[in-house]
Order: sequence, then C-alpha cells, then structure tokens
Amino acid sequence: MSKAIILVMDGLGDLPDAKGYTPLSAALKPNMDRLADEGATGLFSSIGAGIVPGSDTSHLSIFGYEQEKYYPGRGPLEAIGARFPLKEGDIAFRANLATVENGKIWDRRAGRITTEDAKAFSKYIQKFKVGTGIDAIFQPTVEHRGILILRGKNLSPDITPTDPHSNIALPKSMPLDPKDKAAKRTADALNKFTKMAMHTLDKAKENKDRRRPVNAVIVRGAGTYSKVDSMFQRYGVRGACIAGGALYKGVASYVGMDIVDVKGATGTFETDLKAKGKAALQALWSHDFVFVHVKATDSFSHDGKFEEKKNFIAKVDKELMPTLLRGNCNIIITGDHSTPVKRRAHSGDPCPLLISGPDVRRDDVKKFDEFACGAGALGHVKGTELFNIMLNLIEKAKMCGT
Ligand SMILES: [Zn+2]
Repeated sequence: MSKAIILVMDGLGDLPDAKGYTPLSAALKPNMDRLADEGATGLFSSIGAGIVPGSDTSHLSIFGYEQEKYYPGRGPLEAIGARFPLKEGDIAFRANLATVENGKIWDRRAGRITTEDAKAFSKYIQKFKVGTGIDAIFQPTVEHRGILILRGKNLSPDITPTDPHSNIALPKSMPLDPKDKAAKRTADALNKFTKMAMHTLDKAKENKDRRRPVNAVIVRGAGTYSKVDSMFQRYGVRGACIAGGALYKGVASYVGMDIVDVKGATGTFETDLKAKGKAALQALWSHDFVFVHVKATDSFSHDGKFEEKKNFIAKVDKELMPTLLRGNCNIIITGDHSTPVKRRAHSGDPCPLLISGPDVRRDDVKKFDEFACGAGALGHVKGTELFNIMLNLIEKAKMCGT
C-alpha cells in the first residue's frame, strides 16, 4: 500500500516583485523542480478561491475537516498544540508577548523575542487570580507566541480580542453582546489579566537590558474546546504531524493525528530540517501519511523579507527534500495560504501545488512556482479536495455510491 508525505511551507504563495519574481520562483530548488517535472501540478486554495485563510482554518481543511463545521477557534488549537491540559469550559486564547509604550502597541511581537527569553519573562505571569473563581494561566510556546487560559465557571468566548493585529492603542476586551453576562465576566477577567501582566512585566529585571521592554500580553482567537471524530474514525487513515509551532500540532492533535516531537524543530528559520526529515521517514513506517510543516516562509513574509524567504525555500530544498525523497512515496508540496512579502499579511491568492508519485499523471509543468503551476493538470484544488486527492493516491478513498 502506498503512503504519502504532505509538506506544507507556511505562507508559501507570493506575488511578483518589480522584476516579476516571487521568492519561490527565484529560489534555487532543484529537488522541488524535478518533482514538478515528474509529477502533476496545480494551484491550491485551502478554503476557497479568493478567501484569506488563517493558518488554523487552512490546516483543518488540509487535514480533511471542513472549517465551517469543525473550527473551535484558534485559542483551543494552540493550547492543545502546547499540550496544555484543557478542561471543559476553559476559554483559550492565542497570546503574544508584546511591547506597549504610552498605552500604544509598539511591537505586537516584542521584537520577535527568542523562545528562551520569552520563557524568562513568562515565569512572572504564569498564573493570576483575575476575578471571583477565575484563574488566568499563561504558557509560552515559540518566540513571542503563547497561550492564555481563563479557567472558571460561567465564562464565554464571545468577547473582543486585545490583539488588534496592528499597532494602535491597546484595546480593552468587551462582550460582543453587552447583555451577555458570561461574556462581560470573561472580558472583565481578561482586562484584569492584561493590567496585572503589564504591571508585573514592567518591573522584570530582564527588561533592563532591552531597548524596548517586553511588557504586555495581547490575545486573540478566543474559543472553547469540544471533541471531534478522529481522522481514523472519519477516513480510516492514520496521520503523523511533524511541526515546530504549537498551532499546527494543535490542529493535528485535535483531529486525532499523532504528534511526533522532533528535537530542534523550533518553528523558526533555524529549525533542524534534517532532523525533521529523519523523523518523517521514521513516522512513515507506522502511518498512512506524514504531514511536515515549516513555518519560516510565513514569518519572513510577515516581516517583508523577500531574500530571506527565498533563501529559506532553497534551504528546505537542500536540507529537507533529499531525506523526504528517500521515503519513496507520494509527495505533496504546497502552502496553507499565500503571504505576499509586499503585503506582510495573508492573502486570498492560491498557492502552488505539486503531487509526485508512481500513480501520478505527469503534466507539462517543469518548475514549482506560482506561475508555472497555474498551467498544471490538477487545476485549481480547493478546500478539503486536497485531502481527498491524497486519500485516492494512497488507495484509502472510499467509494461514493456503489
Ligand atoms: Zn499559515
């Protein structure tokens, strides 16, 4: 029975620069180009044409779960990924360590603080009482990222975020419906946490040497957790997830995939690609497919760094691809969404997609990039269709009808 590796380069798709190149089209990537030449290509929109996906909804879709039906909010997915033992009724948020000056958000990522430094700051804000019977629990994940849990009775995720996604005055959380008592209680608790965290972090000794202090926690993606049917129950396949970022492990774990922890898989550009490749090969023995995620393509896009994104793609080709190729199985390569460098944000442009394997019908496309793949035989693949294509490739697709 054949198997598959799905490599997702986060935020891979891009728009042409002044010379007409994207980081992917300009990158030296002989392995991916060879696979494109030998296999079939197309474009992929993880949710639908023109829709701007988040990394959470897009991955649900890549794993065959319709995001309209199964999306619990980003917070719970991040928390599951960070192996936080969520309890029924917990409200989970995606959190950022940030820099706030004179009430204004100066940097939403606190200068992209290192994971190590973030840990040092986090020890001051691990747990606070933020209302009658309500605890706020903070846990750092990768770089500036973390999770915040509000635990207590009668809480609701129906509140506004304190991370406005731009550098404006730090907003207060409000209930979406002013008459909703549980939401009011939750927003008040969150605002109390924000205040306490700022007060405590401002005094942290680690801030003495920093040009801009790490002095705030901003949150978004509130949600509560509920269990869903596992991938094995729904589709009869076992998948493994190899990723550095908590969010991706969270989405995978939520749908019942196995999480393979890899030493050195950091979710940053320094991630140990060789170690990830080796872990993927090993996981292939015991799973029908292995999902491998790299994050830095997206991070560089958000920072507007064309050259760095290009070089990281070349590094993936050089350091990860040779090992994945040794798996001797179907390989699918795409992105979860486009993050054009010049926009520094996700966009609704489709990602290039390639599929290579013994049963793949070869098309005329010889290069893996946004332009060439537009002419590929797969056409425009949307939403959970990619997962169906993978199931068919590994002969696990169920017949529709008789
Ligand atoms: Zn993404």
